[in-house]
Amino acid sequence: MVDAHCHLNFQAFAQDYDEAIKRAKEAGVEIIINTGTSIESSQKAVELAQEYENLYAIVGIHPHHADKVSKGWDKEINALAKMPKVVGIGEVGMDYYSYKSNGITDPKLQEEIFRKQIEISIENKIPLQIHGRHAGKDIIRIISDYKNQLLDVPGMFHCFAGNMDYLEKVLDLGFYVGFDGNITYKGLAPGEDTLLSELVKKTPLEKIITETDSPYLPPVPHRGSRNEPAYVIIVGNSIAEIKNTSFDVVNQTSSDNAKRIFKL
Ligand SMILES: [Zn+2]
Ligand SMILES: [Zn+2]
Repeated sequence: MVDAHCHLNFQAFAQDYDEAIKRAKEAGVEIIINTGTSIESSQKAVELAQEYENLYAIVGIHPHHADKVSKGWDKEINALAKMPKVVGIGEVGMDYYSYKSNGITDPKLQEEIFRKQIEISIENKIPLQIHGRHAGKDIIRIISDYKNQLLDVPGMFHCFAGNMDYLEKVLDLGFYVGFDGNITYKGLAPGEDTLLSELVKKTPLEKIITETDSPYLPPVPHRGSRNEPAYVIIVGNSIAEIKNTSFDVVNQTSSDNAKRIFKL
């Protein structure tokens, strides 16, 4: 199984990322991709990928950091994109959800940073890993502007949420769709109107990517504690249950999907 989006590069794992990587391997996680959200965490993701054979990195500026970058940030991301084992640009996108810790970053700045990073992805011929929250319309509008330049496999939307119409547009653009431990939570997330289980049902297995977003979004029964890549197995089991198929089929298909997008 592949954890295609997590953050062993974050402070939450500074003391024990090595043990977390071992536990994941023992649980049957073949590949772990760490995603950056800033220059620093992107650099850290690249370092981890150099240290461990089964780790890869995705580099980029998260929309929350759109107002915190300094001049020349795009050159730094472009340089990181060319490093060994960097397999994508992310997590990039738009986020209109008001977080207690962050509020909403100026949408104009978010869009500017997002567009620049779509261009970096195209220039380096590596796919996008998109973060979106309550911003589906704008994300589709922006990406559609690059429709003719996007890669044949343009990338994936990570931690997908939204409605059926949005899902269809994402699939139409050729993107894969990532699901996390929050698919095990009961009920609707704040501000959402479609159950994640319904979105999982609707997404063809051939388009599904498994991920954890560790340290966030721990699946049931680990809610309230730190999430870690080993728990992507729980995500796989939950997808199998929702889609009424076996874990082995989900494991095989989603792993093939991740390898196809990121050329692993
Ligand atoms: Zn995200
Ligand atoms: Zn993330």
